[in-house]
Amino acid sequence: MRLAWIIALLVWAGGAWAHKGATICIDPGHPSEVGPGTRGKKITEMRAVWLVGQKLERRLKARGIKVVMTKSSEKEKVTNRRRAEIANQAQADLMIRLHCDAQSGRGFATYYPDRAGRAQGRTGPSPEVLRQSKLAATAFHSEAARVLRGHLPVLGLYTDRRTKIGAQQGALTGSIFSEVPVLLVELVVLTHPQDEAFILTDAGQEKLAEALEMGILKALAAVRAAPPAKRPKSPAARE
Ligand SMILES: [Zn+2]
Repeated sequence: MRLAWIIALLVWAGGAWAHKGATICIDPGHPSEVGPGTRGKKITEMRAVWLVGQKLERRLKARGIKVVMTKSSEKEKVTNRRRAEIANQAQADLMIRLHCDAQSGRGFATYYPDRAGRAQGRTGPSPEVLRQSKLAATAFHSEAARVLRGHLPVLGLYTDRRTKIGAQQGALTGSIFSEVPVLLVELVVLTHPQDEAFILTDAGQEKLAEALEMGILKALAAVRAAPPAKRPKSPAARE
C-alpha cells in the first residue's frame, strides 16, 4: 500500500476510535451554591438537565465510554467546586456541564473558559486546560449544531466571560477548579415557550442527548489530534 493511503487510514482510524477508553464527566447542573436554577412553566432546569444527562449517560456507556456523574440523584446539592473535583479525580477526558438558560432569545449555546479566572483563592484553569477546552468546545459545538439543525435554534459558541459569573471572575467556578478540558452547555432557553416545549418531550430530550453525544465524540477526537507540546518553554505556561 502506498504511504499516503496508510497515513489516510491511520488518521481516519484515529478519529473513529478516539473515544475508546475515554472517560466523560457529565455534570447535570443544580442545585449548587448558585441555587436551584431557572424554571419554565412546566419543568425546572434541574429536572430537564437531569433527564438529558441520564439519556447521555446511557448513550456514552453503550459506546464503551466510561461515565462519571457529578450527582447520584436529581436533587442532590453539589457545589460547583466539588463538581470540578469529581471530574478531576476521575481524570476525565472531558467535563460537560449541563444547564438551561433564562433570557430573551432561544436555542442551544456552548461556553468554554478562554482565560484563567479567580474564585475561592484559586486561579485557574491552567493554560493547557484552556487550550484543550477551546479545541474541545469548538469541535463539540459545530457537531452539536449539525445534529440539532431543523430541530432547535442554535445560538453561538461563547466564552465563560459572556456569563454573569464568568464576567466577574474571569471564568466560571467550575472552570477555575477544573484540571480537565471543560465546557458548559445551555441546552435551551427554558423561559421561552417553544424551547420549553422542546425539552419537555422525550423526543426532544433524546435529540439533545444525541447532539451532546456526537459533539463529545468530535471533541475527544479534536483533543487527541492535538496533544500538548512535550516541553512548554513559555514561563506563562506555569501558574
Ligand atoms: Zn444553570
